[in-house]
Amino acid sequence: MEKSQNHTDLSCDIAIIGGGIAGLWLLNRLVKAGYNAILLEQTALGGDQTAASQGMIHGGIKYTLSGSITGASEAIADMPNHWRSCLAGEGDVDLRGAAILSDHFYLWSSSSALSRMTTFLASKATRGRVNKVAKKDRPAIFQHNAFKGSLYQLVDMVLDVPTVVKALVDNCAERIFHIDWQHAHWLRNSDQSVAIHIEHDQQTRRLDARQFVLTAGQGNEAMLNELGITAPKMQRRPLHQVMIKHHYPHRFYGHCLGAETTPRLTISSHPCADGAQVWYLGGSLAEKGVHQTAEQLIGTARQELTALMPWVDLGSAQWATLRVDRAEPRQRNFARPDKAFVSRAENCPNVMVAWPTKLTLTPNLADEAIALIQGQSLLQPSAAPIPELGFLGHPPLAPTPWHTVFGA
Ligand SMILES: Cc1cc2nc3c(=O)[nH]c(=O)nc-3n(C[C@H](O)[C@H](O)[C@H](O)COP(=O)(O)OP(=O)(O)OC[C@H]3O[C@@H](n4cnc5c(N)ncnc54)[C@H](O)[C@@H]3O)c2cc1C
Repeated sequence: MEKSQNHTDLSCDIAIIGGGIAGLWLLNRLVKAGYNAILLEQTALGGDQTAASQGMIHGGIKYTLSGSITGASEAIADMPNHWRSCLAGEGDVDLRGAAILSDHFYLWSSSSALSRMTTFLASKATRGRVNKVAKKDRPAIFQHNAFKGSLYQLVDMVLDVPTVVKALVDNCAERIFHIDWQHAHWLRNSDQSVAIHIEHDQQTRRLDARQFVLTAGQGNEAMLNELGITAPKMQRRPLHQVMIKHHYPHRFYGHCLGAETTPRLTISSHPCADGAQVWYLGGSLAEKGVHQTAEQLIGTARQELTALMPWVDLGSAQWATLRVDRAEPRQRNFARPDKAFVSRAENCPNVMVAWPTKLTLTPNLADEAIALIQGQSLLQPSAAPIPELGFLGHPPLAPTPWHTVFGA
């Protein structure tokens, strides 16, 4: 570390920019591997998409709804077991502090859509991953006589995302700092590598990292533009989710199949501090809902629930919507990426860019990033101390969207 009266040079092995699930998971893995790694977050940890996610850890069955096993379903098949070993404290990241909301979720249809799938769901390809639920074993919400369809249980699970984020933060809290870009900017070196210049209290610091990893979700796009990096590129998949806060006693986690290959409706249930719960609605409803106003979408959601679960009475519920974009690496024809994405930035030797594309695939992202980092023979773990960035302060944990809207 070099010091002059008003300037200090700081350095680390790896600086991660963006503290959603991708950055936090990667930080945990790098620290465990012995790297002197830090993370810089501009707002709140678990930020944009992570806090807004439904917390479903898919084993891929959702991606076989077209009736065949695809690249997406194969890449993702191992993920629930990977997460389970982490939750048990036996994996590559310690998630013992995180909570599971449900260790399975359901697939149901009240129409003929499920019969189209019946042969496939009973086939070898899905053995052990999907089980038909006998009438007597149905969850309380599907015990009603008005339910005439079939119900399947998937082995996939649902996590309480805020507790996952907190567990990842707690493991490495001293390495996570708040960055205020009003007082910081990127520097380009003559060899095209980059560093960060930080001003604070009439002092300047230069932060060098042998590798910067951009895991800022949709924030990656602005950073790539600012750095003049033209590849990789990003695409956004806009969603308009519905949140319903109510006192209906049953929780539910599942996809309703319609005529299309994306679920017609996905429901997840999330506990509130005041004992109520929020039903969070996604699937096709949220994809098509981007063209609707909040009022229109709430109207559509009410109609969907009445059509699909006419026996459910949510009583005097509070309704709200959330617009949020999924950030993904750009694909030909705007296709859905089927793996986590990590790549070196073009013309910038010490920058990598990553998008998990799904919460589920975050372990896959960290594996790929570490393989790329270790592929650089010069980048071995150093035993150097954490750079002196304590003056930046530490960012808070992000609230859930329903906490922001409903206040509990
Ligand atoms: C509505 C919704 C539901 C979803 N449900 C599921 C699901 O059930 N299962 C599943 O597997 N996946 C799901 N996903 C996808 C999943 O949530 C995302 O793939 C994942 O959370 C992305 O994580 P991330 O860390 O890349 O980005 P984010 O969670 O968006 O985090 C990015 C972080 O970077 C910070 N940041 C941004 N710009 C900067 C900057 N310039 N400097 C520093 N920090 C910066 C932000 O503040 C934020 O904290 C869902 C996504 C959405 C939108």
